[in-house]
Amino acid sequence: MGLVPYENEKYQDWSDAKVREKMRAALSTVGGRLGRSYPAIIGGKRVETDGEIVSVDPSEPSRVVGRTARATEREADMALETATNAFGTWSRTAPEARARIMLRAAAIMRRRKFELLAWEVYEGGKPWSEADAQVAEAIDFLEYYAREMLRLKDGIEVYSVPGEESRYSYMPMGVGVVIAPWNFPTAILTGMASAALVTGNAVVMKPSEFTPVTGAIVAEIFEEAGVPDGVMSFLPGYGSEVGDYLVEDARTRFISFTGSMRTGLRINELAARQIPRQRWIKRVIAEMGGKDAMVIDDSADLDSAAADIVKSAYGYSGQKCSAASRAILHADVYDDVLAKVVERAKALKIGAPEAAEVNVGPLISEPQFEKVAGYIEAGKGEGERVLGGDPGDPEGGYFVEPTVFEVERDATVAREEIFGPVLSIIKARDFDEALSIANDSPYGLTGGVYSKNREHLERARQEFKAGNVYFNRTITGALVGVQPFGGFGMSGTDSKAGGPDYLPLHMLARTVVERF
Ligand code: NAP
Repeated sequence: MGLVPYENEKYQDWSDAKVREKMRAALSTVGGRLGRSYPAIIGGKRVETDGEIVSVDPSEPSRVVGRTARATEREADMALETATNAFGTWSRTAPEARARIMLRAAAIMRRRKFELLAWEVYEGGKPWSEADAQVAEAIDFLEYYAREMLRLKDGIEVYSVPGEESRYSYMPMGVGVVIAPWNFPTAILTGMASAALVTGNAVVMKPSEFTPVTGAIVAEIFEEAGVPDGVMSFLPGYGSEVGDYLVEDARTRFISFTGSMRTGLRINELAARQIPRQRWIKRVIAEMGGKDAMVIDDSADLDSAAADIVKSAYGYSGQKCSAASRAILHADVYDDVLAKVVERAKALKIGAPEAAEVNVGPLISEPQFEKVAGYIEAGKGEGERVLGGDPGDPEGGYFVEPTVFEVERDATVAREEIFGPVLSIIKARDFDEALSIANDSPYGLTGGVYSKNREHLERARQEFKAGNVYFNRTITGALVGVQPFGGFGMSGTDSKAGGPDYLPLHMLARTVVERF
C-alpha cells in the first residue's frame, strides 16, 4: 500500500480567530444535541437495555450530556457470542483491508474533529487545547497502527537452516474485551480498540461510565469506517455490573484495559483463573496509574522548570496518568522554584471549558471530586498548603483549585495517586536523594529531570524507574509513534501504546518450518 510516511496530527492554532469561531460553532451544534439516548451496538443492531447510564456535564452536573444503555450480563453475553462468531471471517480478512478501515476511521475523525472536541468539552470537562491533543492522539493511533500492521503482516525474518524454510508470522488471537477510562475517552478507547481490530481480533468495547457518549461516537465512527457487524460491539455499562463477567468468561481471549491500579489488579487476578471450557491462558494488557515525579537539580533553568511543572501538574486538572504529582527540588533551588510554581499556578484560569481562555476545568465526577477533596484535607494535616482552597459545593460543578503542598516524602499526598490538581513539593538535599525519592514508589509511569548537569542526566537515563522519562521538558502528552507510552511496576503490564512492540501483544506468533 502506498501511504504517506507517518506524521503526528497537527494541533489547532487557537490564536487564529477563525479556528476559535469553528470551535464555538461546534459547541453550539453539539450543545443542541445534548440529552440524546445511545443504545448498545451488538452485531450491528441497536440494543436497548432496561436501565440507563446518565452522563452529565462535570462543569454543570444538572446538564445531561446523554443517556446510554446500561448493559447487564445478558447484553455482555450477547456481545461475546456475536464477537466469537464474527472472529472467524475477520481474522481471515486481509491485513491491508483491516488497515484501510483504520485509515478511513482516521479520516472521519479529521472531518468531524471540531464536533469531537465539543463532546470532550461537554462530557469530559476538557479545555479546548486538551481536547484537541486528545483527538489528535486518537487519529495518530489509527494512522500508526494501520502502518504497523502493514509492517508486520508478512511476519518477521528469522534464520533458516540449510534445506529448510523457517517462517515466523503473526496471527489474530480471538475476542478481546477493551475497557477504557474516562480521562482520554476518545484517544484511549480508539487506541486500544484499533490495535485489537487491525490485528484481526473481534472486540467488545466498554467505555467508562463517565464518558459513555464519547464512547458511542467512537463506536459510530468505527461502524461508518467499515468495521463489520459483530466485529466491534459497543457495550456501555458499569464496570461493577459487567466487568467481572466480561473478564471471567471463557470466550474472552484477552483483555485490554486502561484505568486504575485497583481495577487492573482485579482484572489480572480474575483473568488468571481457569474456568470450565476455557482453552487458553488469557492475556492481560493493562495500563494503570502513576505517582509521577519531576526532579529539579541545582543546575536547572528554573523558569522553564517551573513552567513545565505547572503544565504537567495542572493540565486537564491533573487527571492524566502521566501528570506530575510530585516535584522534588534540590535544597539550593527549592525556594526559588516553589515561588515560581506558585506564581504560575495562581495565574491559571479555572472555569467551565466552554470558554476559550480556561486552562483548568472541573474534575470528571462527584466521586472524583470527593476523593480529591479528601486528599486535600489529609494534606493540610501533613504539610503546608501554599496554594489552593477548600473545594466548594459540587452542585455548581466539580471544580478544585490548583493546589500545592509542601510535604515530606512519606506524606499520603506524596505517595498515593490523587488524580486531581494537587502537587506535592518535596525537598531533597542533593541529586542522589532526589532520585531515590522519585524511585521510591510502587508506580513507575512517567518522570522527569530538569538539569544541565550531564552526569545527572546520564544517571537518570539509567536509574530513573519509569517507563517514560523526560529531560528538560514536560512529562505529559506522549506522542504516538514518537514517545511510546506505558509504565513499569504497578503502572501496568509493561506494554507501550503507540510503539513498535504494541501490536504483537494482540497476536500469536507462529513458527512454521518446511524441510525441502
Ligand atoms: P477505573 O475506575 O479503574 O476504571 C477504568 C475502567 O474499568 C472503566 O471503564 C470502569 O468502568 C472499568 N471497571 C471498573 N470496575 C471493573 C471491573 N471489576 N472489571 C472490569 N472493568 C471494570 O479507572 P478510571 O477512574 O476510569 O481512570 C483513571 C485511572 O486510569 C487512573 O488511575 C489513571 O492513572 C489510569 N490511567 C492510566 C493510563 C496509562 O496509560 N497508564 C492512561 C489513562 C488513565 P466504570 O467506569 O463503570 O467504573
